[in-house]
Amino acid sequence: MGKAQLSVWQSASGAVLLSALEVRLPVVLGRHGPNDAGRLTDADGKEVLFGSDLATLSRHHMDITVSDTGGATVIDRSSNGVQRKMPGEPNTMLGKDGEDHLPIGSQRQYETVGLVIEINLPHASRPLEAGSTGQKIYAVYDSASAGRPKAIDLTDGYLCLVRDANSVRMERQIGPSAGDVLQSVKDARQVCLAVVGRDDDGRTVVLPGQNRSVVCNRRALPEHEPFALAHMDTLEIGGMDLRIMEEGGEQPIVCVNPDCRQMNAYEVGGNCRYCGTRLGDGRTQKLPLGT
Ligand SMILES: [Zn+2]
Repeated sequence: MGKAQLSVWQSASGAVLLSALEVRLPVVLGRHGPNDAGRLTDADGKEVLFGSDLATLSRHHMDITVSDTGGATVIDRSSNGVQRKMPGEPNTMLGKDGEDHLPIGSQRQYETVGLVIEINLPHASRPLEAGSTGQKIYAVYDSASAGRPKAIDLTDGYLCLVRDANSVRMERQIGPSAGDVLQSVKDARQVCLAVVGRDDDGRTVVLPGQNRSVVCNRRALPEHEPFALAHMDTLEIGGMDLRIMEEGGEQPIVCVNPDCRQMNAYEVGGNCRYCGTRLGDGRTQKLPLGT
């Protein structure tokens, strides 16, 4: 543990200065050198410079440390202040030496001196192994026809998401591998957004197809690279939410924030691990399994 992915971009132009850099915590972020570049130094001694003319960045601007619970703590050391960005909420100042805690598996953004700094923490849960425990793995989605969640068994076969003219269609397919299923849909001259199912190692994976349209736990996934899924992962594929659940797994609850909609462990009075919205307020949706 103690790993994180950091991205930095200019908030006004969106110009990316640093993209998904893998670091080991604790990390120190600040300004360095005659060009006023940004600098990151991590626990392995890795030093990465980004951007230039960042004169308003303090020499020691921000610390990202490992928190007591295994997540991360962001500490504002700057003169000009670090703000936490939350979807649907005004930014909040951390304040000098103020802290913000990120749970395991979360993604959060901070705005400071015209930069956005995004921190991604890996989730701790093991990837799901299809069928190895005798427990079934489901993808749950909101059924438009029934208006309530429907579950699809992923233990055998593959779930294929195909883009039609105006919608995304779900198909169950049998094949030797997710890659073969993806190829067969392409051969049929259809746009395959993703294939979800078992890989050769027995893990449950999503294989993103065309159009860069697969997001897992609010993180965009690269095309054609299998990504191992865990219990309570949320996939957004072509505007459709798929929630991955294991039979007998922890009871999940879905965040009510419309910009978030991620699954969390059911914990009354707890906050969403992705956006901080309070859970269990009567509006958040507790999902059943195996329907
Ligand atoms: Zn949320």
